[in-house]
Amino acid sequence: MCVTVSLLASGSRGNCALVASARTRILVDAGISCRETFKRLRSLGEDPQALSAILITHEHSDHVYGLATLAKKLSIPIFMTGATHAAWARALRKDKGERPQLDTLERFEAGHRFQVGDIEVKPFTIPHDAADPVGFTFRVEGAKVSVATDLGYLPANVRDHLRGSDILVMESNHDVEMLRVGSYPWAVKQRVASNVGHLSNEKLAQFFTKDYDNSAAFVVLAHLSEQNNHPELARREAEKALGQRGGLFQNRVLVALQSEVLPPIRL
Ligand SMILES: [Zn+2]
Ligand SMILES: [Zn+2]
Repeated sequence: MCVTVSLLASGSRGNCALVASARTRILVDAGISCRETFKRLRSLGEDPQALSAILITHEHSDHVYGLATLAKKLSIPIFMTGATHAAWARALRKDKGERPQLDTLERFEAGHRFQVGDIEVKPFTIPHDAADPVGFTFRVEGAKVSVATDLGYLPANVRDHLRGSDILVMESNHDVEMLRVGSYPWAVKQRVASNVGHLSNEKLAQFFTKDYDNSAAFVVLAHLSEQNNHPELARREAEKALGQRGGLFQNRVLVALQSEVLPPIRL
């Protein structure tokens, strides 16, 4: 097996990950500036020009902020669903008065797998308040990587897709109590905590104790809120839940942060 996963940035100020095999390099989301993306790639010894494709989960700005510039600088396929592309283009016109141009757009549909180099990608629908949000599973050389962030809860179809993952990147957005007493306006709290908002530490822990198959060598906690969570709190919750199933020794828990690159996890 030979696959690496690096998280260049993770959180509500920008998301970007790299899933790579020996000959294919996929950027998942483009939520930080092009300059910062290039800088963080280079810090990992990666050449931005060697990227194979960019995949977009949904049109929220923390997932597409750098996309227009990245697309201009790199002539590589940009994969999005039709509805996500339409929503992204609309927002770009409205907010920046820019004419959205993606010469290398490749549309995909949730539930339909496609190939990027030697990596097979399967997008699946997630419950989130965007036009057509998806998570991804990646398969290469017998290994499976799953990425599921920006989802209010974990419905059965999502849990099915996560089964058998060797690397599992999961949202652990907020601590329910920290969100409740925190400074967010009431309407925002409602949105975050809703079934189309973000996954709490508690809901993720529930998944680990009830539904998780203990398959992953690495579990990455991602999209942590900087206001309503703490890396050590999220880690403790996850490790406690995994420990209850006796799975802590199989699963190494890592925490992805906003301002630091999580160095490559290798299988
Ligand atoms: Zn989102
Ligand atoms: Zn997000």
